[in-house]
Amino acid sequence: MSIDTAAAQTAIVPTLPGDVVVFVGTPDAVPLAEATLSVSDLATTRGDGVFESIAVIGGVFVQLEAHLERLDHSAAMLDLPAPDLAAFEAAARLAVAAHAAEPELLVKLVHSRGPEGGVNGQVAPSGWAQVMSGPDHSAARTAGIRVVTLDRGYRHDVAQTSPWLLQGAKTLSYALNKAALREAARRGADDVIFVSSDGVVLEGPTSTVLVRHGGVFRTPRTDLGILAGTTQALVFDTLASLGFDTAEAVIPPEELAAADAVWLLSSGRLVAPVRELDGRSIPVDAALTSTLLAETFGLR
Ligand code: PLP
Repeated sequence: MSIDTAAAQTAIVPTLPGDVVVFVGTPDAVPLAEATLSVSDLATTRGDGVFESIAVIGGVFVQLEAHLERLDHSAAMLDLPAPDLAAFEAAARLAVAAHAAEPELLVKLVHSRGPEGGVNGQVAPSGWAQVMSGPDHSAARTAGIRVVTLDRGYRHDVAQTSPWLLQGAKTLSYALNKAALREAARRGADDVIFVSSDGVVLEGPTSTVLVRHGGVFRTPRTDLGILAGTTQALVFDTLASLGFDTAEAVIPPEELAAADAVWLLSSGRLVAPVRELDGRSIPVDAALTSTLLAETFGLR
């Protein structure tokens, strides 16, 4: 069943307390505690699916279309049936309408391979949109974050040599990314920048790296087996409109340490300056960070 997006937007949707879930293709929002998934769903048993996290700021989706396109791209990399993007959009809009309004919300879209064995022998993907209250990121955005570099254990060209490793797809298999964040915490840091085994800066476990040297802002190239960041794309537009040069590049770790400033960019935290890299202080450009948050996302 498909849902008319416009109708979902204009219909008066009762607000539910707490987080809200809408299963794709269904007309109702349910409280998170009442949303159930089969224990045989391959999302739960294998992490076999793809997802997106999308910011909703002041009730407006940030880059919804780009996130839907990336969901589709990730699904293709996993040979999943193509997600019904109109149905995902309708579910996302309905879920946001059913959630209490807040300045910042986060919408997670999940497209799973569905129950093991499929239904009647056919793959039967399951999908849903979950809306969560955004955590308070103000300290990270203003004071900055402490980051450690960790070896990802793959060469920089792994996406070309071993596409079955799915580098660059936003899969549900994030246990490794979570483990890296726990390793960062053990080392007294908040976050991670992965480096390839042959010495190329890649990405964070849930973020894109932005590096400034003078008036030039660079981010790692997306052919290095990393996710193409939607936040980075928007921030590059803002930087260009401010008159800065931007480029995708191959960045060695030494250039991180020597940078004028480094940020991690992602849909939830948006723009977080790095204040410490591998235990050494690096400069935080607080003024530019607040300009980027204001000009790109309207956050003041
Ligand atoms: N890289 C990885 C591995 C991610 O998981 C994410 C987001 O979760 C990003 C980069 C940043 O992408 P976006 O800005 O689209 O949220």
